[in-house]
Amino acid sequence: MANIKCVGILTSGGDAPGMNAAIRAVTRSAIYNDLEVKGIYRGYKGLLTGEITSFKTNNVSNIIQQGGTILKTARCAEFKEAEGRQTAFETMKKEGIDALVVIGGDGSLRGARIFAQEYDIPIIGLPGTIDNDLYGTDTTIGYDTALNTILDAVDKIRDTATSHERLFFIEVMGRDAGFLALNGAIASGAEAAIIPEIDTGVNQLEELIKNGFRKSKNSSIVIVAENEETGGAIGIAERVKKECPQYDVRVTILGHIQRGGSPSAYDRILASRLGVAAIDALLEDQRNVMIGIQNDAIVYVPFTKAIKNEKPINGDLLNILRILSI
Ligand code: ADP
Repeated sequence: MANIKCVGILTSGGDAPGMNAAIRAVTRSAIYNDLEVKGIYRGYKGLLTGEITSFKTNNVSNIIQQGGTILKTARCAEFKEAEGRQTAFETMKKEGIDALVVIGGDGSLRGARIFAQEYDIPIIGLPGTIDNDLYGTDTTIGYDTALNTILDAVDKIRDTATSHERLFFIEVMGRDAGFLALNGAIASGAEAAIIPEIDTGVNQLEELIKNGFRKSKNSSIVIVAENEETGGAIGIAERVKKECPQYDVRVTILGHIQRGGSPSAYDRILASRLGVAAIDALLEDQRNVMIGIQNDAIVYVPFTKAIKNEKPINGDLLNILRILSI
């Protein structure tokens, strides 16, 4: 068994609903296994500033249902520099922290990988991001909740779109990954999704224009993944207004509401399973792996795999969307 006495936990990068459920699971599972736990505040920044607190079971009471993260999150540019990581390591030594659980997205796990290699520290990553863009796990903590938030909003927009016979472009998050846009479109019965994985937004739009959006219907909804290149929903709507003046076009950008809110049952259970598995992994002497879920089973994914590979979109889903929007 690994010689670990004290585990530090931090949440880093973009927040995601379910991070608290993960913090709770890691903390309680560690204490159950007689390990000490320390909460590190504001992501890697906490390792530089020393903002660290000993966690007992009651530090994580009453948080499973809360969105956001009680540990706060931040982006920490200093941690990208060797000097910053040196300070972080010294803080860990001072605090007696001998292993880390990092809950975050692609960037946070990239940082974890470099840090673990430089200082030979056991680090376990948990995929915490609404974008679902980490390779090696079927889903990430926060994705299901964000998808449900999108559905709730699109259902409401559909009421007004139908009443006024309008064409709505609804922008969702996911600049590098179209999981939210594509599955949000299928689940909300939207006409189309414009996602980064498929061609360019402009070409996808051309196809939509050519097909006349939805001739048989009096309103249309297109879900657009945010995209600086095409200008996202605003950029696409501007083009459509010029090329198809017959449509009454409107844009809604869902923005940060997608990150907030109480996590869904699915995300709470996922975060609980992954959190317990993180401590199991440390006790089994695993290091430098992300805990993922594949076909409902816990898997260990080496950091190198999780961050280097792009998670592919399921092509069947695109086809399903096309078939169901006729
Ligand atoms: P996310 O984890 O949501 O993808 P970011 O990409 O902003 O979010 O990364 C979060 C933090 O992880 C960064 O602010 C930085 O502290 C750390 N990080 C990201 N990339 C690296 C890297 N290449 N080297 C060291 N630390 C990194």
